[in-house]
Amino acid sequence: MNFTVLTLFPELVNAFFQNGMIARGIENGLITGNCINIRDFSTDRHKTVDDRPYGGGSGMVMKPEPLKAAILCAKDRMPGSRVVVLTPQGNRFNQETALALAAEKQGLILVCGRYEGIDERVYSLLTDEEISIGDYVMTGGELGAMVVMDAVARLIPGVLGSEASFQSDSFMDDRIEHAHYTRPEVFEGQKIPDTLLSGNHEKIRLWRKKSSLQRTFLKRPDLFEKTAPDAEEKQIIRQWCRELEILARE
Ligand code: SAM
Repeated sequence: MNFTVLTLFPELVNAFFQNGMIARGIENGLITGNCINIRDFSTDRHKTVDDRPYGGGSGMVMKPEPLKAAILCAKDRMPGSRVVVLTPQGNRFNQETALALAAEKQGLILVCGRYEGIDERVYSLLTDEEISIGDYVMTGGELGAMVVMDAVARLIPGVLGSEASFQSDSFMDDRIEHAHYTRPEVFEGQKIPDTLLSGNHEKIRLWRKKSSLQRTFLKRPDLFEKTAPDAEEKQIIRQWCRELEILARE
């Protein structure tokens, strides 16, 4: 997967490429990460990248010409890449989108806006998709680009070390992931569930499934509307209901 980020603040994004999982992915040749400074494509002597909005009003708007030149340069370097622009007005980013983007064969070009945003014509003429990372407004698209790259990169085979590490993640199957515990066995008087010490893989699998269902029910019941419980899940839910009944009678 090739990530190319178009930004006015390459230092921000380069720090991201130099640390953690992304850095390892780059080292292992599974990912490439590059920044293009949009300002390098401004042709006037002041290196201007923004201008006043037509119609008046506050703030500045990113000019289309440097953006066009930067996008074409990125496409030239990574032909066939998908051009994604970060904007609060875009489609809400989620795990499904991350999976779709991870399947992109060539790579992703991520365009980061600043100021009041970018000239409207850039969207229709030069980009493939608009992505928002949530219903709030940040000062720039860089954090959004990093969120997208982080979520996508960990889905690239080999980046996490083992594919199983993301297969059971929250949202992969419209469920929240089960609870996790590590040593010590007792912490602040709270002991971990006995089943996890049993060494019985089937019992542990069922405990995790139940934990996942309980957490989904309590934290994100809307996910059951996307994917209804299957036969095994229904059985676990019925068993849980029986346990609750007994508890209520005590
Ligand atoms: N005036 C714009 C609006 O109200 O829709 C917001 C512009 S924002 C101050 C500047 C840039 O930050 C945007 O062009 C975009 O690249 C980025 N940005 C801000 N919030 C974002 C979000 N929730 N998701 C993705 N990008 C965002």
